[in-house]
Amino acid sequence: MAKTKTLYFCQNCGAESPKWVGKCPACGEWNTFVEEVVQKEKSASGYISSRHTVNKPIAIQEVEASKEARIIVPDGELNRVLGGGIVPGSLVLIGGEPGIGKSTLMLQIALNLSHKRVLYVSGEESAQQIKMRADRMEHSSENCFILTETATTDIFKEVKELDPDILVIDSIQTLTSPKMESAAGSVGQVKECTAELMRFAKENKIPVFLIGHITKDGAIAGPKVLEHMVDAVLQFEGDRHLSYRILRTTKNRFGSTNELGIYEMLNNGLRQVSNPSEILISQKEGDVSGTAIGATLEGNRPLLIEIQALVSTATYGTPQRSATGFDSKRLNMLLAVLEKRGGFRLGIQDVFLNIAGGIRVEDPAIDLAVCVAIISSLEEISVSSKACMAGEVGLGGEIRAVNRIDNRIAEAEKLGFEVIIVSRFSLKGIDQSKYNIEIKACSRLSEVVSYLFG
Ligand SMILES: [Zn+2]
Repeated sequence: MAKTKTLYFCQNCGAESPKWVGKCPACGEWNTFVEEVVQKEKSASGYISSRHTVNKPIAIQEVEASKEARIIVPDGELNRVLGGGIVPGSLVLIGGEPGIGKSTLMLQIALNLSHKRVLYVSGEESAQQIKMRADRMEHSSENCFILTETATTDIFKEVKELDPDILVIDSIQTLTSPKMESAAGSVGQVKECTAELMRFAKENKIPVFLIGHITKDGAIAGPKVLEHMVDAVLQFEGDRHLSYRILRTTKNRFGSTNELGIYEMLNNGLRQVSNPSEILISQKEGDVSGTAIGATLEGNRPLLIEIQALVSTATYGTPQRSATGFDSKRLNMLLAVLEKRGGFRLGIQDVFLNIAGGIRVEDPAIDLAVCVAIISSLEEISVSSKACMAGEVGLGGEIRAVNRIDNRIAEAEKLGFEVIIVSRFSLKGIDQSKYNIEIKACSRLSEVVSYLFG
């Protein structure tokens, strides 16, 4: 047995130190250092030497462009978020809250990829439980193998025998490397197991999917370095009480980030939602005050999203402000702009904001729709359901240009909207005559208000 050595790891950022420290020198958090037992020399030297002996400098013209075909899965949403299919040898982390459906998603993909041999390693559920889930999905594949094991050495032994095309680990927090003595799920174990799987993926050109649980505050349980180690991070999110699920790329070495895949959770698995705008705009009879449609962009995908606002006189002293699916600080900023620049008396009002469909939006282009929804509720005047908008609202009450306005206009046109309100500055170089939708250009919030509310 090689000599063991202890190190201290920051539970917040994964920084390591030979002795205990009260304040992390890397991230500044207090009391985050936890002791871990490691056999440092063995794992470190083995890893570095194998890397450094193989690679030699090559002239860039002589580097062969990777022609490796991606594995296209029968799931358009996953292909999209991965940037066009699975890259051989890639290590992909799928993060999400417990119970959101990560295992369902990965099992469904494993079963649908019937022409590829998939090894599904589960440290959480028994083979019988996984079989029951597969039966519910009404899918089966001769090439999907289940292994209930948590020790990495044993997993690699089985992998060698089975020679799978894809490896799925459910979940990284259950794995243990026998090189270490600490418990499964500890920072040291998660780091070490991920490092071993990464070496395995790169050396054998086999893609590996890691399922990782995230904590209440949204971070993937374990060190933040986990996200830096893998090639791609996909977040699986959604409200557990709603049927829609969103798969979002937050990191991708082989494609663009902020791509979005949308699914609906059904009794027999996840259904791909190819026209998400339809589900994000609620079906209703007639026009209702307090709603507005924003033309947002998630990755390369234009989405029309309904914003709902409820403004009512505060019953208790301090008015309440609450936002679901939207940054509450940004909501406060927009309320201040409406008060100061628009003259709307919102200081004594409770304001509740909700993005329909349980989706979370970070695109600033939604600002205008948020403001319009709030004014609509405050004034109790409805906005035409045939109107949508895309614009960032500045502190001076100006409507700012947003990127890729042509995609937004095209999506609004496709969905049958009659008018889209945009910033005047967005329209430079845009041929407006090719669209069969009225494009209303505004440069100030007050113009939008007088246009919509007269
Ligand atoms: Zn730290």
